[in-house]
Amino acid sequence: MSDASEPGDTSDLQAFRGQVQDFLVANCARRGEVSMDEADDEVTTARRFQASLAGAGLAGITFPREFGGAGLSATHQEVFDDVSAPWHLPNLPLAISHGMCLPVLNQFGTDAQRSDFMPDNINGRTIWCQMFSEPGAGSDVAGLSTRAVRDGDRWVLNGQKVWTSGAHYCDYGIVVARTEPDVPKHQGLSMFIVDMADPAIEVRPLRQISGESGFNEVFFTDAHIPTDWLLGDLNQGWSLAVAMLMFERVSIGAGRGGLGGERVTQNLINLARQLDKAEDPRTRQDLADLWIRERIKGFIGRRIRDAVAAGRVPGPEGSIAKLNGALLARTIRDVSMELVGAAGQAWGPDGGDGERWSTFCLSAAGISIAGGTDEVQRNIIGERVLGLPREPNPFKDVAWEDVPRN
Ligand SMILES: Cc1cc2nc3c(=O)[nH]c(=O)nc-3n(C[C@H](O)[C@H](O)[C@H](O)COP(=O)(O)OP(=O)(O)OC[C@H]3O[C@@H](n4cnc5c(N)ncnc54)[C@H](O)[C@@H]3O)c2cc1C
Repeated sequence: MSDASEPGDTSDLQAFRGQVQDFLVANCARRGEVSMDEADDEVTTARRFQASLAGAGLAGITFPREFGGAGLSATHQEVFDDVSAPWHLPNLPLAISHGMCLPVLNQFGTDAQRSDFMPDNINGRTIWCQMFSEPGAGSDVAGLSTRAVRDGDRWVLNGQKVWTSGAHYCDYGIVVARTEPDVPKHQGLSMFIVDMADPAIEVRPLRQISGESGFNEVFFTDAHIPTDWLLGDLNQGWSLAVAMLMFERVSIGAGRGGLGGERVTQNLINLARQLDKAEDPRTRQDLADLWIRERIKGFIGRRIRDAVAAGRVPGPEGSIAKLNGALLARTIRDVSMELVGAAGQAWGPDGGDGERWSTFCLSAAGISIAGGTDEVQRNIIGERVLGLPREPNPFKDVAWEDVPRN
């Protein structure tokens, strides 16, 4: 086993650090040297990688052993994050499954739900998606229209979701639906687990500007949900949804694999050297600014991840992380496009840095939208962190079914 101790490590942490290092050497490529098995797609690779992480006792690090996790501490998670930072972990298709669905299952699931669903989620045998947004309810997700109606020993689901990332390869989903239309909108929502293999669920991929199809429309036509797949209490779905949104914001804004960072400054410094631009004073200033912002992101993330690992649901600080991650992504986009120049628009058959940064550039706008837009994060920070007056809401006490909508 590697001897990879750090000052302050206990013998247990030292052994764990070595265990992580050995696993990464055997199973991963360093960032920038990625070589994916071309026979496999990204999802198959992610499932296989997750299974090997689980086999090494390194999956679901802070989740309870009895539900498939490793049962270790937040400090072990930090060690894993630190040691794995320079490595490419091919698990992006699991980001929502692990960053949002898993903590919600763990926090709000019954023991039966946790033992039925968490082990397979943790080891990548099942992948989960999150179904909140609808054509008429994005920022105002509490206004959603998808209905779940009780019919004997099951719920019957009808409606439409949109922008559901990964629904086309997911096995299960967490959906928020309206169960009580004649109370104010926040009070009549419930959260359910759904089986994406149900033939009453139709998934239609949406094509994006990058040419990829990362998200989908999802249609429910009399889809059936067993009554014991209700998460949390009936009509209490809004508080679970808020918790899940905060997990999402933390995952996007502060997660180590999030789109908003990935310690890209070092990659851009390498690129500047490679392109002979590292001595240019403006480039140096841009890179120094980026380095500072990325460090701040790291500190915010570490603080929030510690809280999550200690079993707390993140509060409005998740919005600070999310907004900061989105602003950082835009800075990365601008600096990288300056550096690669015309290669950001057209590149040779070997792809190279132009293709890589062009893809990042096209994805950057989405980071300001996914998980709640920048404007919505600023509202939350204004109201819940700074204590500014709340936005006026004339429909606060009006039953959802009486609120005018398109
Ligand atoms: C990459 C990506 C992945 C996504 N993945 C998922 C997913 O897996 N599951 C899921 O459920 N959803 C997903 N979404 C959807 C995302 O959550 C919504 O797009 C987002 O909440 C915004 O909703 P909307 O698109 O309906 O925009 P709208 O809510 O219609 O907003 C339109 C504009 O109005 C502004 N606005 C709205 N309300 C206010 C306000 N009160 N104050 C100030 N400005 C306001 C917004 O900032 C925005 O600029 C994803 C989106 C993206 C981009």
